[in-house]
Amino acid sequence: MTADQSGLVMDFSLSEKEQKLYDRAKQFALEHITPRAHELEKRNDFPKEVVQKAYEAGLMNLHIPQEAGGPGLSLLMETLVSEATGYGCAGMATSIMCNNLAFTPLVIGATTEQLKTYIEPLITGKEAKFGSFCLTERKAGSDVAAIATRAVRDGDEYVINGVKCFATNGPQASLFTVFASTQPELKHKGLSVFMVPKSRATKIGHIENKMGQLNSVQSEVIFEDARVPKDCLVGKEGEGFKIAMKTLDNTRAGIAAIATGVAQRAVDEAARFANVRHQFGQAIGRFQGISFTIADMGARAAASRHLTRYAAWLADNGLPNGKDSAFAKFFAADAAMQNATDCVQIMGGYGYLSEYPAEKLMRDAKLLQIYEGTNQIQRLVAGVAILKESVNLDTGFHVKYDGKDAPML
Ligand SMILES: Cc1cc2nc3c(=O)[nH]c(=O)nc-3n(C[C@H](O)[C@H](O)[C@H](O)COP(=O)(O)OP(=O)(O)OC[C@H]3O[C@@H](n4cnc5c(N)ncnc54)[C@H](O)[C@@H]3O)c2cc1C
Repeated sequence: MTADQSGLVMDFSLSEKEQKLYDRAKQFALEHITPRAHELEKRNDFPKEVVQKAYEAGLMNLHIPQEAGGPGLSLLMETLVSEATGYGCAGMATSIMCNNLAFTPLVIGATTEQLKTYIEPLITGKEAKFGSFCLTERKAGSDVAAIATRAVRDGDEYVINGVKCFATNGPQASLFTVFASTQPELKHKGLSVFMVPKSRATKIGHIENKMGQLNSVQSEVIFEDARVPKDCLVGKEGEGFKIAMKTLDNTRAGIAAIATGVAQRAVDEAARFANVRHQFGQAIGRFQGISFTIADMGARAAASRHLTRYAAWLADNGLPNGKDSAFAKFFAADAAMQNATDCVQIMGGYGYLSEYPAEKLMRDAKLLQIYEGTNQIQRLVAGVAILKESVNLDTGFHVKYDGKDAPML
């Protein structure tokens, strides 16, 4: 830790509590995730035993406030666990950390009483329980305003109808966080968010078949005249879009953290392989063509980590983090994809074999560029933010048209 003469401190170290959690999560990944990731992946199913162990080890539901039975930990601490579990297996990390996505809208918009009624029983029992975040529909992906699921008030209840898809942990979930339109004519301003217990007339539809992250499960969730008490509305009617965007500003740091884990794992596997694989009479790591690639991979993983932790730190300090969580998400996801591809290349033919870890890293990494807002959408968010900020910037240079300063739009 260093301080300048004004007493300001720039500190990159983790606190003792943060470091302990990070070490615990890394140890958990080493003991329970990495050794089973390949074998369980072949089942193409939810890795129940591992997730249950993660729950018992206190690595789930970290963001739930203490008033609702949770540990109330920071977003930074969540990202440490996501990075460590993502290093072991991105699919399992998605399964383990999915409650963060499902429950964050409720942490943001629900009352303490609602959290105690609907969330506390799910996070304090012996068995791990799950929520599922139901935003996406077949015709409403990036364009959230196109959501067709409807919620209509009927006395003291709402009646929900619609079909969600890609819902992570859908088949496992006890509670669905459902985005539905209460006023379709208002488009995104007419969206509201509801907590829907499984018992309330929900059905699991098609299970999605995927390329990677096979240790996580996604499904359709069907709501047919699903009746929920009016206290299942989170916040007020019409606040759904705002809550969804605020949720994603936070949870994207979590995806960036899983991506950082994947990017780092690719560096480590590539470097270990390059140290032991000999061609032309020496370890391939001694060829600059390999070591330069490994250097670029290492820099990408390190930059991803810094962007991720900064985005989480902003949120933990109540500062706007939309642009920075978008930076973290697209940069880290692209880094994971590039590093995984480079790792396959460095391993040559072995990189392409499923007995080696690289091909799984490559399949798993691709999803990081797609879910929780594609990387194009992240670039849209960040690009718009930068253009907006630039209006009030003085760089000392003024664009001139016809000899005059051009007006900023
Ligand atoms: C494995 C998996 C797990 C998921 N988990 C969940 C979950 O738990 N809950 C949930 O609600 N959803 C989940 N999703 C859905 C995911 O968030 C969406 O797939 C994603 O937001 C993109 O939506 P889409 O697939 O409909 O693509 P589209 O929105 O149709 O996009 C298609 C292409 O067009 C591009 N595009 C779209 N609009 C623009 C634009 N304005 N500018 C530039 N490019 C654009 C996109 O970037 C993409 O390349 C999951 C998806 C997958 C694959």
